[in-house]
Amino acid sequence: MAERNLTDYFASLYLSGADVRLEEPLEWHTTIRIGGPARVFVSPYSVESLSEALYLLKSEELPYKIIGGGSNVICPDRYEGVIVSTRNLNLLRSDGVKVFAQAGTSINSLIWHCLAEGLTGIEFLTGLPGSVGGAILMNAGAFGGEIGDRVNRVSYLDGRGKVIDVDSKNAGFSYRNSIFKSVGGIVVSAEFLLEKGDRSEIKRKMKEILEKRISKQPLEYPSAGSVFVRPKPDFYVGSTIERLGLKSLRVGGAEVSQKHAGFIVNRGGACQKDVLTLVETIRKRVEEATGVILSTEIEIWKEVE
Ligand SMILES: Cc1cc2nc3c(=O)[nH]c(=O)nc-3n(C[C@H](O)[C@H](O)[C@H](O)COP(=O)(O)OP(=O)(O)OC[C@H]3O[C@@H](n4cnc5c(N)ncnc54)[C@H](O)[C@@H]3O)c2cc1C
Repeated sequence: MAERNLTDYFASLYLSGADVRLEEPLEWHTTIRIGGPARVFVSPYSVESLSEALYLLKSEELPYKIIGGGSNVICPDRYEGVIVSTRNLNLLRSDGVKVFAQAGTSINSLIWHCLAEGLTGIEFLTGLPGSVGGAILMNAGAFGGEIGDRVNRVSYLDGRGKVIDVDSKNAGFSYRNSIFKSVGGIVVSAEFLLEKGDRSEIKRKMKEILEKRISKQPLEYPSAGSVFVRPKPDFYVGSTIERLGLKSLRVGGAEVSQKHAGFIVNRGGACQKDVLTLVETIRKRVEEATGVILSTEIEIWKEVE
């Protein structure tokens, strides 16, 4: 990014209706607490401002990345571009059994809102870190359900900054995938279709899910969730890694979780390189032992792309 233009960019982004910060540490915005400063960190307060910011970034050919809850990304020691955060796009309201949520709404706010409104159907996502936008992009799922099952409509910004509405049938939801990945769309909001339910029963289901998460996942340390995509339905990545004796393997501050070998946790001071080294070691060992080539579910962001 050209030095002489930084003040201009800053002013334009700010005036589009966004919070703008310089040299913002990305470890503050990722659940694994990894990532050095981003040159510019922008959080638009409205969809119009998001669209304007993206128009500016594209027309100036500035490198940028979208971040939601930061629960699926591993950031570099420095990002020489602009990070656009959806965290200020967090309107949440319901109308009967329909719930409208902007992209930056946390999944947990959505769940708690549904409980307060006595709406059932989405409890399976209880405890999932991350935002509505990030979860829709990758059709996040847990305990037999996927977010796409409960989505009625999604609005996204296309490459030209135009808001497009699609119903769930045309959103291409499949295992950890949606059309928003292939079209490069930025999810701005979603409407969920739920059912009326009994609050105490909803709370009971939430508690049950939370207990399962606590017993299975290494929530005591920062992480970015499951590192690898399950390559086929009957291939369990965590137990394969465990069988190969890689549990507790450590590089720098990053460690293959002792509790669930499908997770890499930050035991303190981990950097992107530590995680990458572990990922490559696991991939190599799994391929040698099983012939299966693992691909990552987590995204590894480069300094500039
Ligand atoms: C402890 C733990 C447990 C987890 N458990 C699960 C689980 O059970 N099931 C599961 O599926 N996942 C799980 N995850 C992974 C993660 O929470 C989900 O993938 C989540 O949906 C990511 O959302 P996010 O907002 O954090 O995305 P981010 O990490 O911010 O971004 C991930 C990707 O989405 C893009 N993105 C973010 N917002 C938008 C948007 N509005 N429009 C377009 N692109 C966008 C980013 O550019 C990036 O490419 C877990 C993670 C952790 C840390």
